[in-house]
Amino acid sequence: MQANLPAAIGFMAEVHQDDARPLEPLFAARGSTARWHERTADRTLHTVLLHSGAPDEAYAREHGRTLLFAGELYNRDELSGLLPGRVLPSSDAALVSALFDGYGVHAFRLLNGRFAALLADRERVVFATDHAGSVPLYACVAPGQVLAATEAKALRGAAARGLPISQGRAVRRRPGTCQVPAGSVLDIQVSTGMCVSHRTWTPPLARRILPEDEAADTVRRALERAVRARTGPHTPLVVLSGGIDSSAVAALAARRSAGPIDTVSMGTDEADEFPQARVVARHLGSAHQEITVPTADLLLGLPHAIWAAECPDPDVIEYLLPLTALYLRLGDTGSDGDTGGDGDTRGNHGTGRRILTGYGADIPLGGMHRESRLPELETAVCHDMDTFDGLNELTPTLSAMAGHWSTHPYWDRDVLDVLVSLEAGLKRRHGRDKWVLRAALHDVLPHEVVVRPKLGVHEGSGTTASFSRLLTDAGIPQDRVRQAKRLVVEEIYDQVVVEGRHPDEVALDAVVELIADRSAHHPCPVPR
Ligand code: ATP
Ligand code: MG
Repeated sequence: MQANLPAAIGFMAEVHQDDARPLEPLFAARGSTARWHERTADRTLHTVLLHSGAPDEAYAREHGRTLLFAGELYNRDELSGLLPGRVLPSSDAALVSALFDGYGVHAFRLLNGRFAALLADRERVVFATDHAGSVPLYACVAPGQVLAATEAKALRGAAARGLPISQGRAVRRRPGTCQVPAGSVLDIQVSTGMCVSHRTWTPPLARRILPEDEAADTVRRALERAVRARTGPHTPLVVLSGGIDSSAVAALAARRSAGPIDTVSMGTDEADEFPQARVVARHLGSAHQEITVPTADLLLGLPHAIWAAECPDPDVIEYLLPLTALYLRLGDTGSDGDTGGDGDTRGNHGTGRRILTGYGADIPLGGMHRESRLPELETAVCHDMDTFDGLNELTPTLSAMAGHWSTHPYWDRDVLDVLVSLEAGLKRRHGRDKWVLRAALHDVLPHEVVVRPKLGVHEGSGTTASFSRLLTDAGIPQDRVRQAKRLVVEEIYDQVVVEGRHPDEVALDAVVELIADRSAHHPCPVPR
């Protein structure tokens, strides 16, 4: 296994009570493939695991029960303390399986991690997502058959057979498939398809009142721990804009690293934040790289970003597009080749990187909200924390598509609990947004970085502007651009997720032309 990647980055599993033929799954994430088939008196389990070299570490089999685990845990030390006197399980999958022995489905309430899990136990299948739903998990359930996968497109062939299950989130144009909600366990009886759901995490609703120093200190300690838990023995790579969020992560990663860390910034011919990122890289002594992506190439990546994120929301895709472009240019991660072993395996065992981002800090801190009134700030935080689920902003597939593993310290469960719960006056203070974060990091970053106003990744890279121009150049009037972006993203989503087409086969210019044509002939909203 590559020590800097989790054992598995995705899976598909099918439980059948009859002899159905297994599906051939499609994944955007890149990894080696291991397959298992288990037959017992009452059911068959087909499993496809996307792994990084040691599939057994993502697969635990005990007492006739099978657990699949894609992703990783960040509170292994705490969890190990719950198993006194036992030989410590060597993998996250084995650890979760051992906790399941003691706590049943409530084991998932104990986990701080970035994962999706599936447990098949005789007549029962259990799905679990981490608190943030940061590794998406999709399911299709009918009496006698239960299917699940970490990408919706993997279940393409099954959708028509599925029934809606309680608590599942609807998936666009896939009536038989649902998305398992964030912070949830769904416990399903295979023969009937009956589902019992448990929430394992919800965003805090109450707010804590703390003195300034104590608030900053609490944030600092939580973030330090989250960065430490996410950095393995290898040199970490931080995707760095020079904004406070990623600069804070880079600074904390650099403090615990024996040698210089790696940082990388992307820009386009339209815009970049290279000078800002350089200030931070110089201050930290990081090995820094700049990658410039021509705007036309950036936009050609739209189908890849949508293929990976499986999200039809154009605003989210504008945030994710520059990062996708960056991940895809971080270098080849190795060659494909059969590796033998348990089941048939293929894929790469190359040089995938562990990437830390500053993504998502604005959601619990209200950083996108550019005004100073506290009621509006709190309303924005509450709204964003109520609606993040299903947007797949945090999905590892964006980087896994290029063979890398990304992880987001601000969406660590404990960091999030701290950030969300601080009273709004600590988030906006002394005329600054994200004040408490700036105060927490003031001693490890240059002052100009600590006070730098927010610039969104979609703005700093010129993504929003260039996407708009693509549409106005095609004849779409300025006042219809927003709606047209939605239609372009939805059309591409339908091609790559619903129909399962490869993103290289999507003709972006033809999609834009189609939407421009519809827009010219139909007043908003344009019907499909
Ligand atoms: P701020 O929110 O204060 O601007 P930030 O730039 O670090 O801080 P975002 O703008 O929200 O955060 O961007 C989200 C994350 O995406 C960043 O934290 C960083 O990890 C990554 N990112 C954004 N822009 C770039 C860029 N140009 N190059 C590399 N990574 C970037
Ligand atoms: Mg920024």
